[in-house]
Amino acid sequence: MSAAHRSPIQSFLESLRARYAGVRDGQVATYIPELAKTDPDLFGICLATADGFLYEAGDSRHQFTVQSISKPFVYGLALDDNGTQHMLTKTGVEPSGDAFNAISLHRATGRPCNPMINAGAIATTGQVRADSPQQRVARILEMFGRYTGHPMGIDGAVYESENRTGHRNRAIGHLLRNFEILDDDPTATVDAYFQQCSIAVHCADLALMGATLANQGVNPVTGVRAIEDAHVENVLSVMASCGMYDFSGGWIYNVGMPAKSGVSGGVLAVLPGQFGIGVFSPRIDEQGNSVRALKVCAEVSRAWELHQFNPPYCPRSSHRLSYSCAERNSSRIRHPGDLACLRDNGSRVRVFEIQGNLAFSTTESIIRKVIAGSGEQRSVILDFHHVTAVNNAAARLLADLAAELALRGTSTFVTHTQRLPSLRPQVAAHWTDTVAVDRLFRFSSTDLALEWCEDDLLDALTRPVPTRVEDLRTFEIAAGLTEQELDVLDGLLARQRYPRGEVIIRRDDEATNLFLIRSGVVGVWLGEPGTGSRVASFSVGTMVGELAFLDGARRSANVVAECDVECSLFDVGDFLRMQDSHPRIHATILRNLAVSLATKLRKVNRDVSILSAQRS
Ligand code: GLN
Repeated sequence: MSAAHRSPIQSFLESLRARYAGVRDGQVATYIPELAKTDPDLFGICLATADGFLYEAGDSRHQFTVQSISKPFVYGLALDDNGTQHMLTKTGVEPSGDAFNAISLHRATGRPCNPMINAGAIATTGQVRADSPQQRVARILEMFGRYTGHPMGIDGAVYESENRTGHRNRAIGHLLRNFEILDDDPTATVDAYFQQCSIAVHCADLALMGATLANQGVNPVTGVRAIEDAHVENVLSVMASCGMYDFSGGWIYNVGMPAKSGVSGGVLAVLPGQFGIGVFSPRIDEQGNSVRALKVCAEVSRAWELHQFNPPYCPRSSHRLSYSCAERNSSRIRHPGDLACLRDNGSRVRVFEIQGNLAFSTTESIIRKVIAGSGEQRSVILDFHHVTAVNNAAARLLADLAAELALRGTSTFVTHTQRLPSLRPQVAAHWTDTVAVDRLFRFSSTDLALEWCEDDLLDALTRPVPTRVEDLRTFEIAAGLTEQELDVLDGLLARQRYPRGEVIIRRDDEATNLFLIRSGVVGVWLGEPGTGSRVASFSVGTMVGELAFLDGARRSANVVAECDVECSLFDVGDFLRMQDSHPRIHATILRNLAVSLATKLRKVNRDVSILSAQRS
């Protein structure tokens, strides 16, 4: 039996557990008598990614009480209930440098320094909206359930134990009541605080709680929002500045991630946007932080280079490739005259393929590239096919860029945004000109946008090919034919009109004709027209259907009139009979068909080489 492949992430976490399992420094907390009974050798590690994948090592499902790790989460709930301004009147956000249980209240206002020390945490619990003490605890439990994805319970023994002995916290409660930081019964609030500290969790819970914060407040496994997006940064900020008690400065210096510890031996660290990690090992140091958990987190941060002030960020990575219409065109088959015109003037239409997450820096680098060439540009297409996320700042900058370009007569189109459903509302929230926003997102694909930009450019120049072709010599197929030969060919052609939407060629039909487009545009669809995918289109002055005309195979796609279309039909039988009746005309047409195919093949080669050259 072959063993499943092991992830190096999993192996690393297990190796850390093995490496530090022998560390016996520190003591299990005893001031809450029930905690003293904990097996000091328990050791679990769990890492949960921001998309909800869990790596677990050791006792990652052993339950312990959350203790102070509850504080940032209850602070988040109180922020959701009351907003930041109100909460700042109840507790500050400055590190105290004091121990977690210090009675450090502002001399004049009585306001605790921050919500991570007990005084600030009790003040915070008092701000959770509720009609009764029971409802307050129930709301706190529900909130934790949103982060962990399952109903939460309280460890009754630990709660009783702390309730019996927690005189210091009661004293803090009364002081807070005295300063009117707490406005209801301090006994009930401190009791709710003891209960929140006694909520039972395991490392996997902690990791997922962290991953939820890393994922802008949405639990990545259940998809449930646990905290308002806007308050995630408030919670992570107090964790970063005050989460590890009087070791907070050393922690952020070494490990560089917002984190929170609890006296029962848990540590939860968050790498914003990436993951949460939960570690449990009950022996704590003098500052109240788990000795082994500190080592594990420091090692994880060092090994994977996760310090927040050393971001793995590469602003240039937002730009994938760019090309102009002079180098690469849409899938529209155009008359050689039009194509030559696009080659000469196509630098005025430019496509930028963008990738990755768009925030300030990544968007700034795009703006710089777009602006650099925008003087002569008629249109700019920003292809978002490979963009994974756009924050509000980036959306606003994009709207500003499009508005600026519009002022100078350059149209901007953002394409392939199907997987970014919030982008349009983000832009619209900033740019109130709804017509302009509609225009910005007018084309779902770059191909459609390019087609439009090419037409727009050709319209602005004098189009080499008229909108209605009467002269048979315009068609490639007629090149090199004498006047008399042209008359012979003309005599064989049958005019046909197709109203907009009519199917001209059906897939799998027998190929009986070649179509010369006298006016209008036809679209080629792989599936049902309108619902399948449109793979190409043909302009006036070009021909459709020559493939089957050459090899006799059945039609490979559906062809539809995109406006009122007029064609001249050339019957396959008539062409074949020419071999005997007019061998010179037959040979010339055959040569012309070969040249036309060569032109199309060259276009494909050019497209491919631009893509591969720029991506290598
Ligand atoms: N319930 C504990 C207390 O208030 C929580 C302290 C902690 O985890 N640091 O003492």
